[in-house]
Amino acid sequence: TEHYQGEKTMNGINGTVAIVTGGGSGIGQATAKRFAEEGASVVVNDIDVEGGKETVSAIEADGGEAVFVEGDVTDPEDVAETVATALDTFGGLDFAFNNAGIEGASEPSSDQPLSNWEKVIDINLTGVFLGLREQIPAMLHDGGGAIVNTASIAGLLGFPNLTPYVASKHGVVGLTKTAALEFSAEGVRVNAVCPGVIETPMVERTQEEDPETMEQTIAATPIDRLGQPEEIASAVVWLCSEDASFVTGESLVVDGGYSVQ
Ligand code: NAD
Repeated sequence: TEHYQGEKTMNGINGTVAIVTGGGSGIGQATAKRFAEEGASVVVNDIDVEGGKETVSAIEADGGEAVFVEGDVTDPEDVAETVATALDTFGGLDFAFNNAGIEGASEPSSDQPLSNWEKVIDINLTGVFLGLREQIPAMLHDGGGAIVNTASIAGLLGFPNLTPYVASKHGVVGLTKTAALEFSAEGVRVNAVCPGVIETPMVERTQEEDPETMEQTIAATPIDRLGQPEEIASAVVWLCSEDASFVTGESLVVDGGYSVQ
């Protein structure tokens, strides 16, 4: 597309249309920007209007193309509106990054309030399911595409006191495998990304509450630092690109080595 001035580094992203949920902050914001830098038009979803609009402004200021849709990933009508916006505004849908998520309250399983369990499962797991259900038909109709879901290293490992979060992210890994089995032959690849600890507002909140835990987390990360949102963005856009054309059903760990020990 004409708006892109820089050098594209990934094949098959330029001129496409991508949805990013939770695109108003952290990993979603960095990924929306990277999609745009690679020449995709981006539909930014979030419940946070200020954050979502900030992402769109940053993309436009950089010469890219994006639109914000306020929406809750747990609301099927909002999810449908996000997909409809991609089709109506940009004429199709090639990629979706189902990324909106929350950490939820930190309590041992025995003390987890049911309300916290339900909220975390609803946003992190049901939200991804609703996204897949709406996005896949649109992609099939439009010659195929690729989806990336945000799981976590908590989708592969247990973490004390984070029962609903861990269960939701293990669920995302399973949803990803199943959708990949169902639709890869028809031209929709489905993968997940499993970030380690990434420096975003989500993690900054935990750090404020418990600075000691953060130091321990860094000490437990072989690369010896937190990850940056841009380091997840490049994995996500790569998974969508033609460079990853034989990758599907995969949950790609990007964690500075945290989970190999
Ligand atoms: P963040 O809090 O910076 O961003 C999350 C965004 O999602 C926010 O803008 C928020 O408003 C939005 N959101 C929340 N609920 C929503 C809903 N119901 N509908 C639409 N949008 C909603 O957090 P982040 O660190 O960028 O996290 C993004 C994803 O990455 C989450 O799924 C998170 O679980 C996952 N993750 C983060 C880390 C990390 O260390 N930061 C590690 C592993 C996985």
